[in-house]
Formats: sequence, structure tokens, C-alpha cells
Amino acid sequence: MSDCLFCKIIAGEIPSKQVYQDEQLVVFHDIAPKAPTHVLVVPRKHIHSLAEANADDSELMSHIMLTLPKLAQQHGLNDGFRTVLNTGKGGGQEVFHIHFHLLGGGPMPFA
Ligand code: C5P
Repeated sequence: MSDCLFCKIIAGEIPSKQVYQDEQLVVFHDIAPKAPTHVLVVPRKHIHSLAEANADDSELMSHIMLTLPKLAQQHGLNDGFRTVLNTGKGGGQEVFHIHFHLLGGGPMPFA
């Protein structure tokens, strides 16, 4: 989507501090971290929110779930970590390109 912030980050049109990428995902540091480790796991495919995901996205969603603990391990989050998926305005979503927050390394914020 041409007016989507995360699509622009994925395309390299807006800089980000990337920590991981593969054919399906781009992962970068949140610009306003809420924990010592706070990265965003973003699919290359533009999906507005979880409410718009469908059966075609099953493999992608599974891939995200299985990648999250690997990323946590890479970031030394051996004690555990938090994943947050905000959906819709009422769920606190601000950027309407589905993304998972991966947080850890300190006291957990409410999220
Ligand atoms: O789940 P939600 O949509 O609220 O999260 C959006 C996240 O994207 C926020 O944590 C915000 O700090 C982050 N962000 C970013 N880079 C931007 C704009 C927003 O990392 N340029």
C-alpha cells in the first residue's frame, strides 16, 4: 500500500534499524521502545490488522509465531518475553499494517 508507513519501511523508503528479515518478514526496532528490547515483527504482505487476516494467511501467521521465540533468543531474552498484537483503534493499534511487538529485558509495561 503506497500510503502505509510499514510498507515504506519494508521497501527501504523510510530508514529503520532492522534486526532480521526473510522472504515473509521484516523485523526492526520500535522507534519509541517500551522495554529494553522492543522490536516489531512485520509481514511483507500488507494486512491491515488481525481482523482482516484470512485463511490464506495461515502459513504466514504460523511462521510469525515460530519466529518470535527465535528472535527472543537472539536478543538474549532467556527469562521470557512478551508479544503484543494490537487490533483496531479500540485495541490501541496506531499503524494499520499488522505487526507483533516483541518486548523484554526489563519490567513489563502495560501493553
Ligand atoms: O500496535 P501499534 O500500531 O500501536 O504500534 C505501532 C508501533 O509502531 C508503536 O510502538 C510505534 O512506536 C512504532 N513506530 C515505529 N516507527 C515509526 C512509527 C511508529 O517503530 N516510524
